[in-house]
Amino acid sequence: MNRKIFPRSFTQQEAISQESIDAAIEVLKSGRLHRYNTIKDEQSQVSMLEQEYASYQGSRYCLACASCGYALGIALKAAGLEAEEYVLTNMYTLAPVPGAISNAGGRAIFVEINENLVLDLDDLAEKAKSSGARFLLLSHMRGHIVDMNKLMKIVQEEDLILIEDCAHTMGAKWGQKKSGNFGLAACFSTQTYKHLNSGEGGLITSDNAEFMARSIILSGSYMLYERHGAAPDAEVFSDIRLQTPNYSGRMDNLRAAILRPQLNSLEENIKRWNKRYRIVEQKLKKIKGVVMPERPDEESYVGSSIQFRIPGISNSQAVEFIEANKQLGVEVKWFGGDEPTGFTSNHKSWKYFERQNLENSDRILSGLFDLRLPLTFSLDDCSLLSDIICECAEKYISDNSDK
Ligand SMILES: *Cc1c(COP(=O)(O)O)cnc(C)c1O
Repeated sequence: MNRKIFPRSFTQQEAISQESIDAAIEVLKSGRLHRYNTIKDEQSQVSMLEQEYASYQGSRYCLACASCGYALGIALKAAGLEAEEYVLTNMYTLAPVPGAISNAGGRAIFVEINENLVLDLDDLAEKAKSSGARFLLLSHMRGHIVDMNKLMKIVQEEDLILIEDCAHTMGAKWGQKKSGNFGLAACFSTQTYKHLNSGEGGLITSDNAEFMARSIILSGSYMLYERHGAAPDAEVFSDIRLQTPNYSGRMDNLRAAILRPQLNSLEENIKRWNKRYRIVEQKLKKIKGVVMPERPDEESYVGSSIQFRIPGISNSQAVEFIEANKQLGVEVKWFGGDEPTGFTSNHKSWKYFERQNLENSDRILSGLFDLRLPLTFSLDDCSLLSDIICECAEKYISDNSDK
């Protein structure tokens, strides 16, 4: 029996590289931390990050701002969301997503998910029709990408404005197309637990000039939009600049300086995450009663976290299973809990929106578990943590699953 206790922290990311530290020190020495505080022909760090991210993403425009949650809120506003208007979104997502809808003055209609943790497209089509909603805020929660060809067909048929929440799909693709390049706009996070780490931060990308001009003014550009690196031409702003309020939420040069070198390592890091993911996936999928979400061939994902289901597990068994893992140092999260804990919450705790009936998804979430796979874990660490989960599963999960 495995009695080794897992020694690492599930929330420990890698150290910021010397290159990023040096860049940050340069900004600090300059004293010019505000993105519009530039001298002569100097381009700010934020402006350069925007150009580099637009180029990485393959989008025309990019705006850096305070967080991804903030980005989602202003993206909805810039897309034309009106007060009390409905926004379709996944019921399986993180609290900043319904939060952004609320922040932008909208109301959420939660769409069910299926066993593979992506949107139930029948439910989407039905709710789009019955609600007449104009907006779909598609959250690629935990990096699972729905069949984008089928989704885009519904988007076109129902004339939906699509905004993608790519907090977990920065660097991922569906077919040959990067996640985030399917709709009007996409939002990304550079918060510590995502794929780039500046503590906090968000990026919005789009090919639409007017949308981006409104986003830039909303983000608090003090009419200095001509100092942006990946922005539309000044004439696009001529009316928008006076018709759009300032919701101050800029990124600063310190964070941008830390991020720019990280962007160069992103592709390499994706490979490192996926190596870890595959080790854990191979081991977990052999456990009796455990079901791994299917990942279609078209999906190039980033395995920065891993999910598994134990269908039919009772709440008390789930609690025991998590506790047993915890005793051995493995932090398994569970999406079925009644109370929100840390980063896991669900629609029942978003009481600022009317309660919605999502029975099918509730059943899926009641057997859904989740693990972070930070790059500070070695490949051996990944084997060890998987063995611990296997051991706990054997001990605590009676064979009542409907696998
Ligand atoms: C983290 C996260 C966000 C919000 O990102 P912040 O930068 O923390 O605001 C949005 N959606 C999902 C799915 C996330 O995990």
